[in-house]
Amino acid sequence: MDETLRGFSFACKPGCNFCCTTKLFVTSVEAELLLDSLDDKDWIKIYALPPYPRPKYTHNQLALLYFTGDEPKEENPEGEITSCPFLTSEGLCKVYHHRPLICRLLLSFITCSPSKPAEISEKLYLLSLISLQVAENLDFGGLYGNLFDLLKYLRDYKIGIIEEIPSHLLSTVEFEELPLLPDERELRGWVGWLYRRELPNGMTFRELLNTIKEDLKTQSGLSFLREIWSE
Ligand code: SF4
Ligand code: SF4
Repeated sequence: MDETLRGFSFACKPGCNFCCTTKLFVTSVEAELLLDSLDDKDWIKIYALPPYPRPKYTHNQLALLYFTGDEPKEENPEGEITSCPFLTSEGLCKVYHHRPLICRLLLSFITCSPSKPAEISEKLYLLSLISLQVAENLDFGGLYGNLFDLLKYLRDYKIGIIEEIPSHLLSTVEFEELPLLPDERELRGWVGWLYRRELPNGMTFRELLNTIKEDLKTQSGLSFLREIWSE
């Protein structure tokens, strides 16, 4: 996506952060990546957050519903959208290098304001959705939910004070290898390019994807999820 996005001119710049809110829906592997970079002050802020939105479906669940022709029962998440607790007093992201994929994909051709939402082309929007579906495919056997719910859950589980997965966390769903819907066929070329792309280590993206998937099966950080799901 970085390479694809390089050809566009966005209004986004450091300190611009209307898009940085508590409506952050992510996979467990993204939350896991962020977990160790948090300190006590971050946890105080996270636990002080007012009730935030929670997703009703994962990206791949919505795509599968589309395929079967079923309508999602409830799409609009409840909860208050407030500023992301990881914003510093300078308006920068404290966890920039570990930020979730959704933060990396939220871009705009115009400078946003409370009355002016982000603007992006339909093609870039669809490519972002495909990227999120690829990420969900990678985290098979994992969880999906609001970032702050996932962080709290992973932390509590690791220190041994929670066993059960709360009902507001969803399980990830694997979609077909090329995560394209029928009306996204014109994007097939981009996905093909992505999967065939040779990376600096000599592997193609597809080979890397398969290797990561295999590696995730033995990741100790996520092994508890597999144990839970196999029960
Ligand atoms: S998406 Fe909008 S609010 Fe966020 S950085 Fe870009 S221009 Fe600023
Ligand atoms: S994690 Fe960082 S980039 Fe993402 S919403 Fe929070 S402050 Fe913004």
